[in-house]
Amino acid sequence: MSASDLAAFVSASPTPYHAVAEGVRRLTEAGFTEQVETAEWDASPGGRYLVRDGTLLAWRQHAPSPLRIFAAHTDSPTLKVKPRPDTGAAGWRQVGVEIYGGALWNSWLDRDLGLAGRLALYDGTVVPVNVDRPLLRVPQLAIHLDRQVNSGLELDAQRHMLPIWGLGDAREGDLLEFLAAEVTINATDIAAHDLLVHDLTPPARLGRDEELLACPRLDNLASVHAGLTALIAATGSDTTPVFVGFDHEEIGSGTATGAAGPLLETLLTHLAGGFDRRDRIFAASRCLSVDVTHAAHPNYLERHDPDHRALPNGGPTLKVNANQRYATDAPGAAAWHRACRTAGVPTQVFVGKNTVPCGSTVGPITATRLGIRTVDVGIPVLSMHSARELCGVDDPAYLSAAGEAFLADPT
Ligand SMILES: [Zn+2]
Repeated sequence: MSASDLAAFVSASPTPYHAVAEGVRRLTEAGFTEQVETAEWDASPGGRYLVRDGTLLAWRQHAPSPLRIFAAHTDSPTLKVKPRPDTGAAGWRQVGVEIYGGALWNSWLDRDLGLAGRLALYDGTVVPVNVDRPLLRVPQLAIHLDRQVNSGLELDAQRHMLPIWGLGDAREGDLLEFLAAEVTINATDIAAHDLLVHDLTPPARLGRDEELLACPRLDNLASVHAGLTALIAATGSDTTPVFVGFDHEEIGSGTATGAAGPLLETLLTHLAGGFDRRDRIFAASRCLSVDVTHAAHPNYLERHDPDHRALPNGGPTLKVNANQRYATDAPGAAAWHRACRTAGVPTQVFVGKNTVPCGSTVGPITATRLGIRTVDVGIPVLSMHSARELCGVDDPAYLSAAGEAFLADPT
């Protein structure tokens, strides 16, 4: 149930903007109402959400109580369309792209790709667009023209990652005219765009007993989905549960809507009853930083610490790093273990191999900004940052159940 609902969430969310819109749809269905960012702060009790671009914040408001925050990110590595996209050569029309985040470039080759994002018009409106059918393809060079390819594929980001999308000569304005027709507006009204490429293969149950979920953007829509599910279910009043899905984690979080920006701090200050009163509330608060973790890869076991491997369907994984690439400490870890025990779900512990530096995520950044104790966790995923990733089919439900227990825990 949870895995198929996650698959539906991912399919509805080809970009952070669409993930936010789908999150808003679900929150609205659950009775949450919008706090418009430019409007006066509404301090009355109830479920609220706030949207800025690709970032979504949601919370249940009542009298100030310890904050329990579920933090994730809405973005995934992909290809992003350049401002002047119309290009091509040798009779092929192509789209100029940059690489967004740390994508596994080879995974984008020879796939049928869609294109989605938002169009910003001269009149100030923003129009979402989603071409969710085969439109683009980044064609790989045939092996006959590169006999060495299987001992090391080399890709040049400027020359080799350009998708084709038609035949004929490149013509300035072509792509925007096509997209304008998709959403029935005039191309001349479009002033700018944020457009991202997405994989079109639908999510699928995979394996002998269908115990795996193959899916694009598990990093990190699996966590966004679990966080929204947990918040909607968390109806107690001993804590103030908060969900945040930040944009821009894959490019370092240092943006206006990223984890290093001010949005979460502004919200939490409101929820704590103002700047003068927030210190005491923050000191009693806790953040669960949720991002996928590396499942032990059966073909590359030497890349993992033998005693701290994350296994699929073994439950969401506590992430620990002595150098605080993950923000987990012992009291935070205890809070996580308590949440898993309350929810009755399994959990495991991941530590990277000492000689293989691990990644990082939103947790250490928000912890540094706010001084709120933070725990890093996430479900095990294989092929992370590929156009298509793989996880155990039970782990998403374990994560949302543990997340719900964490949000409700006043201890
Ligand atoms: Zn991530």
